[in-house]
Amino acid sequence: MTPLKKKILVVDDQIVNRLLLGKILKEDYDVVEADSGDKALTILRDQKNVIQAVLLDLIMPGMDGYTFLEIVKSDSELCEIPILITTQSEGVEVEIKALALGAADYITKPYNNIVILQRIANIIALRENAILRNTSERDPLTFLYNKATFYKKVPEFLATHPDTQYAIVYIDIERFKIVNDFFGEKEGDKLLCYLAKVLHDYSDPKEMACSRHNGDIFVVCMPNSKENIKKYILKIIEKIDEYPLKFRLAINFGVYIIEDAELPVHAMCDRASLALESVVGKYDEHFAYYDDSHRNRLIEEQDIVNEMTTALAEGQFKVYLQPKFDLRDFSIVGAEALTRWIHPTKGFIAPDKFIPVFERNGFITELDFFVWDTTCQCLRKWLDMGWPVVPVSVNVSRVDIYRPDICDIFAGLLQKYKLPPELLELEITETAYTQNAEQLIETVLELKKLGFRLSMDDFGSGYSSLNMLNEVPVDVLKMDMALLKNLDEKNKSSNIINFVVSMAKWLNLSVISEGVETLEQVRFLCSVGCYHGQGYLFSKPLPIADFEDKILTHKRHEINSEESYSTLVSLEDIWDLNSTFNSLFNYFVGSLGLYEYREGKFILLRANTRFYEKIMPHNDELHPIVSDLFPFVFDEDKKGLIASLEKIKKENTEVVLDVRVHTPGIIGVCWHRADLKVIFNSEESTIFLASVQDISKFKTQELGIKQNVQRVKSMQSMLDKCSINSFEVNFEDKSLVSNASSLKNYELPNIIRDVAAFFTNGDFIHEPNIHEINAFFENLFLGKPSKELTFQCKKRDGTIHWAKLSYNIEFNSALLPTSGLCLLYDVCAEDKI
Ligand code: C2E
Ligand code: CA
Ligand code: CA
Repeated sequence: MTPLKKKILVVDDQIVNRLLLGKILKEDYDVVEADSGDKALTILRDQKNVIQAVLLDLIMPGMDGYTFLEIVKSDSELCEIPILITTQSEGVEVEIKALALGAADYITKPYNNIVILQRIANIIALRENAILRNTSERDPLTFLYNKATFYKKVPEFLATHPDTQYAIVYIDIERFKIVNDFFGEKEGDKLLCYLAKVLHDYSDPKEMACSRHNGDIFVVCMPNSKENIKKYILKIIEKIDEYPLKFRLAINFGVYIIEDAELPVHAMCDRASLALESVVGKYDEHFAYYDDSHRNRLIEEQDIVNEMTTALAEGQFKVYLQPKFDLRDFSIVGAEALTRWIHPTKGFIAPDKFIPVFERNGFITELDFFVWDTTCQCLRKWLDMGWPVVPVSVNVSRVDIYRPDICDIFAGLLQKYKLPPELLELEITETAYTQNAEQLIETVLELKKLGFRLSMDDFGSGYSSLNMLNEVPVDVLKMDMALLKNLDEKNKSSNIINFVVSMAKWLNLSVISEGVETLEQVRFLCSVGCYHGQGYLFSKPLPIADFEDKILTHKRHEINSEESYSTLVSLEDIWDLNSTFNSLFNYFVGSLGLYEYREGKFILLRANTRFYEKIMPHNDELHPIVSDLFPFVFDEDKKGLIASLEKIKKENTEVVLDVRVHTPGIIGVCWHRADLKVIFNSEESTIFLASVQDISKFKTQELGIKQNVQRVKSMQSMLDKCSINSFEVNFEDKSLVSNASSLKNYELPNIIRDVAAFFTNGDFIHEPNIHEINAFFENLFLGKPSKELTFQCKKRDGTIHWAKLSYNIEFNSALLPTSGLCLLYDVCAEDKI
């Protein structure tokens, strides 16, 4: 196979010249010809990537060589292509002019074959060299500087600007691997190019250098002013937020201010990366400056290394067990063994502090063996004691998994403790899967042959390769808690969880979620078909003895045990749309809502058809599950509502509540009366079933009556002022209230408890008139009141006067009197007739 010939464009209006040049060149080159500047330009634009040089005649009709030169040299896409001038020598000025316009060289006539070929070869080689230099300086994907160039550029920067202080900004896209896995590498590359462009666009090349080191690691060197750096960082965060991807992208920054210019650039980058590590995984912090605390971490690590061997020998490492639960009935289905370091002077040291150190220095192998051995010992004890036994999983560090004797070690443990292999589950963290896939697959296959269950730990935390799931025959997929945390945040990862769970089902894997902290998460997981979970909602990792206590006393519904929890309906039934509970719920004749009260929110989980017909029309504002109902409740009623909810939660009781609500789509007040009954109660959350009625109509009437009473009261006081005797009667409780004027004129108690009895006992009414009064009351209660009544009554001074009673009485729908206002005034004896 011969190498491809390089292509040369010959531009000359004279056919003779073109033939001549073609003849010289065609041995070594692929020649294209153009007979005018215009045509040449079209060809060049078309084939700019393959034409390596142009031979150009200056004197041509139409577009001449000079114009052609000018156009090509000012076009950024073409200007790199070398142009050699081929005109008959017309003196040195012409030569200079052409060279000044950017021509690379000048070939004079008559043509000398060897000279021409050599010159062309030189020019092409020169250019290729420049291109090569350029690409070896730059990252081929993003065209930013690569790591080596960056390491070279930074000291140059520092040397040429000795008065400016510089900083190294280390940049990393969090969980970038997920983008690659879920959206494909092409999308991943697109994102990297986008970020590179953003970094580049906001950098001043005179004083900043941007580079990509590998993967998603970008490093920028820029002048230090905190304002400056912060602005730059915020701009980049803003731009990344704008990036259209159905996934929450987080980007982290670590900044090292160059205090020691003598430090090698890689050490500066290490410091910036240490600062970055301190914010990885935090949701509210995205950048940190390198400082002493980071340096201290290095020192701390050194201490850990110095003490680890003694610590293991002295039993400072303890195995804790964290139960795994069935999310449908909260039964314990397994446990995970986790290490704790109880240091004699420093106290509790979290695994995150020492595990990574041990993984780096290899001590993890010893520690892990201790944990595995202790776990097997536990299982043996439970079997021997006849206690309930659940499978326990142990972590297998990626360092362990590549040990050639790993299978022998596990086989040895089974033998030593005479255990069935299915009781020991091996969790392999997903980061292990990307290192040496073939060896890993081999090991996993062998462990499976021994009968162990294998799970892929931390799935979704950033390095998982979905393809690996096909190839590595694990049994369990353990979803990283980051996925759930993300769910709380924006709901964006719900799609991913959903996707992961359905994929796992498809591959016949069981799935478990770590970091389950809320019932809402439990509900979500169940709704997408993930039925196992581990997390603080159920239990923290426990010392072995405590775990044993728990498993011995744990009942299926322990989470609802009497002190703190209660339940009428199992959560499983609440979520299972086909359960009897839900059939009843949906077909119930009244309006039913299922509510949850948690973390100060009052959430409508679900409602039946009648509810949506009668109480609250379906509305976008009221998206089930996510919406908090409090904003819909009248401010005046909120306090009362909260108090009632707290009461029900505490006392586990029923309550009837009237609240005013703004109903989307309905103008004015709606009164709802809710009969709330607790059906599930835990510290975290209370779930209520409520039958809800719209009582707006009654409430309005009631309000009207109250307003009437108010009117009556103000009228009475007016009558007082005019010295008119008046009484306000309430026929429902038979009471009568007299105004001040009546009290002055007549011997009356302040409040009379039984109107009819009082009026007919003869103290107030003159005896001979009593039968008339009796008749009056009879008629009144038959709904036929007489218009007015005249009778003789006794005044305070003992005298007897004729008086007239006029009244206005209200009747209810059953035509019974409810209330009335009566006026009593003196009349002359003649007027009585
Ligand atoms: P991991 O294997 O992913 O273990 C789960 C971690 O999540 C444990 O942290 C556990 O205590 C914690 N966790 C459990 N439920 C919740 C929850 O609801 N919320 C939150 N925020 N965290 C929860 P831990 O014990 O600190 O361990 C951290 C990591 O250290 C482990 O992550 C594992 O990678 C490693 N590790 C722990 N013990 C061992 C061991 O014996 N050998 C090896 N190789 N690695 C270990
Ligand atoms: Ca684990
Ligand atoms: Ca994990």
